[in-house]
Amino acid sequence: MDYQALSNEFVLHALQRDKSLIFSRGEGSKLWDIHGKVYLDTMSGSAGPAMVGHSNPAVAAAVARQMATLPSVNILHEATAVIEFCARLATLTPTGLTKTFMVSGGGEAVEAAIKFVMRITGRTQVLSLSGAYHGQSLATMGLCGMPGLRKLIPDSLRSPNFRQVPSGDAYRSPLGGSPDNFSGAIHALEAELDGANSGKVAALLVEVVQGPNGHSVFVPEYYRSVEKVCRERGVLLIIDEVQTGLGRCGSTWACDLFEMRPDILVIGKALGGGVPIGAFITRPDLIPDGLESEPWHMLTFMNQPLAAAAGLAVLDIVEKEKLAERARKLGAQATESFRNLARRYDVIGDVRGPGLFIGVDFVENRDTKVPATAACAKAWGYALDHGLITQFGGFASNVYKFKPPLTTPQEDFDRMLEISDDVVAFIQKEVDQQRKKPAVAVPAIGQG
Ligand code: PMP
Repeated sequence: MDYQALSNEFVLHALQRDKSLIFSRGEGSKLWDIHGKVYLDTMSGSAGPAMVGHSNPAVAAAVARQMATLPSVNILHEATAVIEFCARLATLTPTGLTKTFMVSGGGEAVEAAIKFVMRITGRTQVLSLSGAYHGQSLATMGLCGMPGLRKLIPDSLRSPNFRQVPSGDAYRSPLGGSPDNFSGAIHALEAELDGANSGKVAALLVEVVQGPNGHSVFVPEYYRSVEKVCRERGVLLIIDEVQTGLGRCGSTWACDLFEMRPDILVIGKALGGGVPIGAFITRPDLIPDGLESEPWHMLTFMNQPLAAAAGLAVLDIVEKEKLAERARKLGAQATESFRNLARRYDVIGDVRGPGLFIGVDFVENRDTKVPATAACAKAWGYALDHGLITQFGGFASNVYKFKPPLTTPQEDFDRMLEISDDVVAFIQKEVDQQRKKPAVAVPAIGQG
């Protein structure tokens, strides 16, 4: 079958590239394309679903069992698998968060959480941070702090109720301050909450580590200050751990690393082991009497058993295989490896991220931090040619995101790092060549 021709004719794509591949099989940390070539996956699918490995046999068996028993139910009723899953999840969630609402994706879960906070507080506004990513629905795009992603759908994404405040990003501070200057960001948050919108903001939505923005991580004082400012004003804290949750960052939740206490935790991606899933978990005392009988939200796939069965299987694997511990161990090895490379290659501007959630920020110049965007675009193809699936993220697509399955066998992991070494050397060569090119003379504007 000519899959490429059929794809071109019948599939409506987004994000398609010249070198985009067609895969037919996955197992653990490996994928096979239609020509039989094998690749190692440093991205765990699209940033997480394969955290327990592609085609995990325990997940596959649980899903097959549920599919043969009861895959879906009418939304006025319930299914045993959902109850079991939600009860199990509550044994792992941050203190006090025990009530779960399931949907079929991370953005959908954020959107549901937004509706929930608006409904329970009677307040109409939600804030997020610069650099934030929370999904691609119209509401969640209004909460997107990555400008490049907001441009494509004309004007529909501007809800005055959803706004950004500057984050405390230490490497590329949105306030232009010195790297340790997170206090400016805290003052901006205070000003936003105490100014014209005082009393109208229901919640602040925060990724603990900003994945799509290039694994931007903040200093511990920043997290503590954000929480304090919100608590003092009765603003709820929604923590988006769609990428960082379930052991990825070296503890079950990334918010535990920074002692942040969410009122609502949002999860997705890895939780389904490949089955579409998302969920938010909240405190029972926040739920008003009667809400659970209302149609405050309504989706065909809310609280459905097929996804619950997958989720239960994944939670089992995360616990039994001690994946948080594995993320710490493999993460330490990879971080050390990239930091060593940074001594040899000056295109590495920053290596960051907790656990096995690593971002390597490539720059043309360490002082100006100009992103090495063009070289990274080529490096993506170079990595594929060498059997490595990677992705470059961040506002300038210059951050190498390294987050393979937490179940990756040591041999595959070492090989991923070896190929990554070559990818770094390739980027250095590309940038060096650019540096050698004579600067193009730019005619002065407004003269003669
Ligand atoms: N939040 C974060 C932090 C994410 O990284 C993503 C997906 N990249 C989402 C929300 C949206 O999840 P989904 O694509 O499943 O809707």
